[in-house]
Amino acid sequence: MICEIVCVGTEILLGDIVNTNAVYLSRKLAEMGISVLRQDVVGDNNERLTEMLRQALERSDIVITTGGLGPTADDITRDKCCEVMDSELVLNEKIRNQIESYFVSKGLKMSESNIRQAYVPKDGIVFENNNGTAPGFAIEKNSKCIIALPGPPREMKPMFEEQARKVLEKYSDAVLVSHNIKMMGIGESAMAEKASDLLENENPTAAPYAKDGECFLRITASGKNKADAEKKAEPVVKEVTERFKEYVYAVDEDNIETVLVKLLKKHNLKIALAESCTGGYAAKRITDISGSSAVFDCGIVSYSNEIKNKILGVNKDDLEKYGAVSEPVAKQMAEGVKKLSGADYAIGITGIAGPLSDGTNKPVGLSYIAVSDGDTTECIEVMTGRKDRDYNRYVNASRAFDLARRKIITRYEEQEEKQ
Ligand code: ATP
Repeated sequence: MICEIVCVGTEILLGDIVNTNAVYLSRKLAEMGISVLRQDVVGDNNERLTEMLRQALERSDIVITTGGLGPTADDITRDKCCEVMDSELVLNEKIRNQIESYFVSKGLKMSESNIRQAYVPKDGIVFENNNGTAPGFAIEKNSKCIIALPGPPREMKPMFEEQARKVLEKYSDAVLVSHNIKMMGIGESAMAEKASDLLENENPTAAPYAKDGECFLRITASGKNKADAEKKAEPVVKEVTERFKEYVYAVDEDNIETVLVKLLKKHNLKIALAESCTGGYAAKRITDISGSSAVFDCGIVSYSNEIKNKILGVNKDDLEKYGAVSEPVAKQMAEGVKKLSGADYAIGITGIAGPLSDGTNKPVGLSYIAVSDGDTTECIEVMTGRKDRDYNRYVNASRAFDLARRKIITRYEEQEEKQ
């Protein structure tokens, strides 16, 4: 089955808003095994929208529109969908009451024009809008299907998931499932090389991706139904997680900070941070996670050498001899904050985030990241090769979380496995 997406709105054509609805729908349809032939954008214009819908219906089995379902005269999608599908709009009393209640609940007065939104196609399936006022709908006729969804993503996405998906499922030739195996500490090309045999496979496919200092291998399997697709994906996901054991930090859901917080909680551990170039960003990412107070002890932003020495006890001579961006300093920062806080694990991060150099001959994008558990302090050198301050800070924090994760696993989980 072939589908087209038509996003309605002059704002999109003017570049005032980014067409995220098309991206979202394309992804979801691909996951469902429905091929998307085209994505189009059309302004709020009667003739052009009618022409676009007619042409799309000639080429494809399914047309999905977003936007133009509001109450004003330039919201024309409802009328035009009915026109091209040879249907008519009728007042739906239930929707009318829902719209009225929506306004009452917000303490607002409903205007007459809002009643327009209670008109739905006579022979269509109505999608109630639980997050706004405009209902969506599907009209199916003569082996063609048109689905209209509201423009605001916060209304469109749940309507798609909870209601439109059910209508679309019967048009799907196959079901696709994807699993993202998330890795850190290995580059995209090294990962692709090590997985080269899997990249040739047709079902499941394996596709490498790189994003902000980490890599993913996305395994996508196609099957008769979800269970069948999962069955095909499972052995490959297992094979990849084993082959890349030392790099894999999660499959699908969690980001690296969530993985670390969960691990600390599991073993009843606390962590402290001493940050220089990340300026508190690592602490922010940890404390963004609800419940992190159980594991987060403190974060110290020791930007100047003076504070690195006075508060964290970093040796003055080492600062002088090796410079602030160096392995001995990163290690002493981690050890210093560990001592100060009494936490079980401590991180030290020092680097040159850029875009300007720090006045030494060290390159922008160079960092040293250390993790101490009291017994040993491990340090890695990270060289991003980028002059992008935000990127460097993000990657440094992520690599620090990953180093702490590995150290905890080595001590607590690999030991347990051996016993
Ligand atoms: P409303 O009842 O809010 O008027 P609507 O279905 O008529 O809903 P539009 O008026 O077309 O939708 O768009 C409303 C808002 O939704 C836009 O201002 C924009 O913020 C967002 N929006 C619309 N289309 C898209 C799109 N394709 N991608 C992302 N956001 C969009």
